[in-house]
Amino acid sequence: MGRAPSTSGFSLEPFDLDPDLDRALELIKKSGAKIVGVQVPEGLKRMASDLARGIEKETGAGVIVSGDPCYGACDVDLELCRVADLVVHIGHSKMQVADPLVDKVVYIEARMRADVKEVVEMATDLLSARRVGVVTTVQHVHKMGDVVGVLEKKGVEAVVRSGGSRTTYPGQVLGCNYEAARNMEVDEYLFVGTGQFHPLGVALATGKKVVAADPVTGSVSVVDPTPMLKRRYGAIARAMDAVRIAVLVSKKPGQCRMDLARKVAALGREHGKNMVLVYLDRVEPEVLINLGVDAAVCTACPRIALDDQAKYPVPVLTPPEFELLLGELKGDYHFDEIE
Ligand code: SF4
Repeated sequence: MGRAPSTSGFSLEPFDLDPDLDRALELIKKSGAKIVGVQVPEGLKRMASDLARGIEKETGAGVIVSGDPCYGACDVDLELCRVADLVVHIGHSKMQVADPLVDKVVYIEARMRADVKEVVEMATDLLSARRVGVVTTVQHVHKMGDVVGVLEKKGVEAVVRSGGSRTTYPGQVLGCNYEAARNMEVDEYLFVGTGQFHPLGVALATGKKVVAADPVTGSVSVVDPTPMLKRRYGAIARAMDAVRIAVLVSKKPGQCRMDLARKVAALGREHGKNMVLVYLDRVEPEVLINLGVDAAVCTACPRIALDDQAKYPVPVLTPPEFELLLGELKGDYHFDEIE
């Protein structure tokens, strides 16, 4: 639907969906799908109805839009997959997920149009190393060539590596996976993208200096993980005397770590804790209140503990944080990653 934004009337400033959307439309037509599911992340939800109309008009298929929140490629709406012949998942790159229903999903990435050259040039003033690891999110990964070009012009060697099966592109990181950063020997990183979480994640996962360049705000900064670490050690300290502890396991196909949850529960029991496994789709404060637990260990998306702690009534720890609490893990802070 490179042409569809005009034919269907929907607009997705400041993103491009081409050429993935064209490919998806062809696939829908060729497959003869009668019902097409559409899953859109919260930030783009407003365009879902226009997109649905556009798909119906171009393919003749009926469209059902998922009304549930969508946080990543890990978060495929399996119920929608059951009722639809094909599901169009907007905004994230494909993730290898072991659930046959996910075979119905066609991923359409949303690529930000924002130019990166100027902000990367500004960021070079904050870099001290002459050899730098470059990472970004899927929204900017198509600009990697521009990033490398600017760095090379400034005499900085840019190192770009592939991540694991959760990511699609060299240099791509996720909030839960920094393999593309860890897969290299460098002393500094340049993160190109929006928001604080990913550059903080790179800093915590590697223990190295990270310069963040935001092409949307035009700001550059050296990431300081200290406030986040203070909050996390505070949560660990508050959970120290917890006895009743929930181990949260996600139903979302790309966040479900049941084996890890069982190990966490077994470890807690060895230390005299009263552990209960809780299987759920969304981690809401009421769940923890109603369970009457003193703390929780979240084996789902690490951002639940790290980004959202303030909304929960009890400390919510990541699995490595729980091991730190029990004294099973020593040394520096261990960032939770899903591999
Ligand atoms: S688990 Fe969390 S950080 Fe990882 S892809 Fe899903 S929503 Fe993003």
